[in-house]
Amino acid sequence: MRILTYPDPRLRQIAEPVDDVDDDLQKTLDSMYYAMIAHRGIGLAATQLGIPKRLIVIDLSSVGITSGPMYLVNPEIIRFSTEKVTESEGCLSFPQCWGKVERSKDIDVRYLNYNGDQITIEATGLMAACIQHEVEHLDGILFHDHLSKMKKKMNERKLRKLGVMK
Ligand code: ZN
Repeated sequence: MRILTYPDPRLRQIAEPVDDVDDDLQKTLDSMYYAMIAHRGIGLAATQLGIPKRLIVIDLSSVGITSGPMYLVNPEIIRFSTEKVTESEGCLSFPQCWGKVERSKDIDVRYLNYNGDQITIEATGLMAACIQHEVEHLDGILFHDHLSKMKKKMNERKLRKLGVMK
């Protein structure tokens, strides 16, 4: 599955919630996971594969934060801490681009897991940033939107050089 890259207009679509977690949906979640690991990503939203559904997968096991992939179906951030942190982020839709983004330090997120159970967790640090980044994808928002004009131009120049962007 091809990961859409900036400025593909499909990255701006607002994704729809899914009704329930069935076999077909689990297959979609599996393909999302494989697409993500094939690109060595730590997070991916269905929007990035051109699937307008509210699905995200994250896997922070490479940095010891999770023990494997986490699937979040219909994720909703129900609390954002007022305390913010600024960290460097990348995105599979922006190959080789980085930029510092300010986000809530911790959040509460409610979602359905791979088995369709409703879960609420508190996420902090990298996991909180990652979930905020991916949930924004579901609303057509990109990390790039948070960057300064100058940094945006630098990233766009890089994408043109890589042939990702015309
Ligand atoms: Zn992204």
